Amino acid sequence: MNEQITLLAQLAAIDMRLDELHDELGDLPREVKALELAVRDRLSAVEATKAKIDEIEQLRGTGHVTMQEMHDKEVKLADQQFQVKNNREFDAITKELEHIKQERSTLEDRIRTASVSEENLQATLDRSQAEYDEAKGRLQDKVAELEQLTGESNVELKKYIAMRLRVIAKLDDTLEAEYERIRTFHREATVPIKRDSCSGCYSAIPSQRIMEMKHNRDRMYTCENCGRILVTEDVAIETENAVEEGNV
Ligand SMILES: [Zn+2]
Repeated sequence: MNEQITLLAQLAAIDMRLDELHDELGDLPREVKALELAVRDRLSAVEATKAKIDEIEQLRGTGHVTMQEMHDKEVKLADQQFQVKNNREFDAITKELEHIKQERSTLEDRIRTASVSEENLQATLDRSQAEYDEAKGRLQDKVAELEQLTGESNVELKKYIAMRLRVIAKLDDTLEAEYERIRTFHREATVPIKRDSCSGCYSAIPSQRIMEMKHNRDRMYTCENCGRILVTEDVAIETENAVEEGNV
């Protein structure tokens, strides 16, 4: 079981599993980050609209008080107009009354305009609130997905990393270095021979060599065409099963 070629095949199978685990997380962390930004942007939009609405409500609140005050003043001035002693006084009061009426009308216009824009703002607020809720929901789903995957893959990762250490301890250092070198060119460094061909590049392997491989299980044979490490099919199947069962 500790023949070098078996160890090499095991190492390759374990590395494939580790690669797959890494791929599974894939874009998820990046997607979560992008959604977090989107949620933050949408929240700012909601808050900005709310602030504008507050401002209008405040204007309306103080505006009504001011209008009441102006109205009281107008009534008082109108009374005074009947008690004047001369034309000069009458003109002065008339002028003041006109001034107050003008101001009141300006304020009335402002409040009316504010009410119209408040309606528009309310519609904007409803829309951005819905967008915010939607983005927040999507973020929560993605975070849950990521957490689940990370949790599951952590258990798997630990299992395969421990297996890898056990294999490397038994594997010849020179072969290990050679394996790592090949891995930099081929993600799948070890391939089985199928129908007398390298299953990595499909070039034919002489049957003489295949016979030789079966009898020299401590030697490493590589494909002359693509450079991948070759294993006979029985070794490949035996390795797949052993790694699958964690029996390494
Ligand atoms: Zn090949």
